[in-house]
Amino acid sequence: MTRLLITCEHGGNKIPPQYRPLFKKHHGLLGTHRGYDPGALAMARDFAKAFDAELVYSTTSRLLVELNRSPRHPQVLSVATRTLPPDERERLLQRYYWPYRNRVEAQVAAAVAEGAGVVHVSSHSFTPKLDGEVRRADVGLLYDPARTRERELCLAWQDEIRHADAGLTVRRNYPYRGTGDGLTTHLRRLHADRDYAGIELEVNQKHTRVGDSAARGLRKLLAWTLARALERTQ
Ligand SMILES: [Zn+2]
Repeated sequence: MTRLLITCEHGGNKIPPQYRPLFKKHHGLLGTHRGYDPGALAMARDFAKAFDAELVYSTTSRLLVELNRSPRHPQVLSVATRTLPPDERERLLQRYYWPYRNRVEAQVAAAVAEGAGVVHVSSHSFTPKLDGEVRRADVGLLYDPARTRERELCLAWQDEIRHADAGLTVRRNYPYRGTGDGLTTHLRRLHADRDYAGIELEVNQKHTRVGDSAARGLRKLLAWTLARALERTQ
């Protein structure tokens, strides 16, 4: 029986009080897509509820520490935190990076040890326009095309979404590639294809307005189409 794990690395834009002085010059960024993924946490919560799944999330801004990058990646720290002295950078990672990563790793490892395949859905949202370029998708499904389970599941999920609402444009490995540096890429290295499938769900932020009934409807649609896709690919 497949186990679902839902995560949300970019769920909020909070900065802990002791780090706020670093953001004096960058305060404006916190409210933008560079500070967090609007709507991604609501999506993650709805998924966790629909599947009675474990949810791991963060409401601290990615501009403090980027949870979806490797610890040594240059982008793990932002324009606001990169200039900290080395020991303070290390403290920041110890406090806000490693507990999250270790918790997700442990959840996946426990389910794999039980012999249950894990499907990990990492919930994200993307800005409709980046550097003047309009993104032509409503939903993106990011995965590693070389992993059979992920590929089959995403093909089935894309198909189910299209059938549910032909007006939605669903693209695979768009607006990013699923194999870039990140949490799912890291977990793939630890677990075999049959044990672990890591999918990043990317929803266009034009569909994620909080309290919007259309946004709520899309969250519902994405959950039940995933349920059908899981059934089809068991
Ligand atoms: Zn994100």
